[in-house]
Amino acid sequence: MIPIDPPAMTVKDTLTAACRRLQDPVLKKRLLAREADLSAAEKKYTYFAEQDRLYALAIYERDAEKKTPDRDGVHLKTLYSAGLVGRRDGRRKYDELKARAPFGRCLLCGNSEIGSLDHHLPKEALPLYAICPVNLVPACGKCNQMKGDRIGITAGQRTLHPYYDRPGETGRYLVADITGWPVQFHIQALPNWDAELRARVEYHFDTFQLADRYAEFSVSVVTADQWLHRQIRSEGGIPALTDHLYEAAKQHARTHGPNAWDTALRYGLASSDWYLHHGVDEAP
Ligand SMILES: [Zn+2]
Repeated sequence: MIPIDPPAMTVKDTLTAACRRLQDPVLKKRLLAREADLSAAEKKYTYFAEQDRLYALAIYERDAEKKTPDRDGVHLKTLYSAGLVGRRDGRRKYDELKARAPFGRCLLCGNSEIGSLDHHLPKEALPLYAICPVNLVPACGKCNQMKGDRIGITAGQRTLHPYYDRPGETGRYLVADITGWPVQFHIQALPNWDAELRARVEYHFDTFQLADRYAEFSVSVVTADQWLHRQIRSEGGIPALTDHLYEAAKQHARTHGPNAWDTALRYGLASSDWYLHHGVDEAP
């Protein structure tokens, strides 16, 4: 997960843009009239997310929606797909939100090209947040598809929200163990995590099948660097290669964050006796 600040764009911005080229004047008026509602919902979302209580809000809103469906629910969902994704003015806002992902990387897996925006709280169950920018997260097609329409059966069974969750604030939690190929990625809980955060980080890791995907991503990075690594080792020995690998890891952490998969990979290589002595000569 790549953490970034929530967007400054508001639901008023997306609503206005998505409605601008709406042909049906009656529907347009009706949807624009929802601005106050949507802004209030956005405020609530932000408040609960900042208090780490978004799950409670989601469950509450989902049950309320089941009992009394939003009269514009269908229109709000369509406003996302047709107005925000499909029409020019809306699309500009959509692209702006997508472009916030550093290096164009999916915020959920930290690799892969951004395909679309993922609704953190699913629009099917919660149409009120269908076009709410703080609920829209740049993601790759694969992550978006793997996440699906779930809210979470329990508070711990939820994927992380890149705008609000900060599991890596106090250190590195994504670890790559390298005692042979393929690389084994896993989560190492940090001391300040509570049980729920621990469960969520694991859940996020499993939902997006990150152990397998990261191992797969690693192959090309390792392959590209091995020749250089062999050169460094033949000239300066193991200590020189160790230094080089730690330096590369630190540099990568500064650019992509301490818990990006390729930062973890580089720390893993630097601390792997197996890699330094044997792995550097073996194709992954
Ligand atoms: Zn992804």
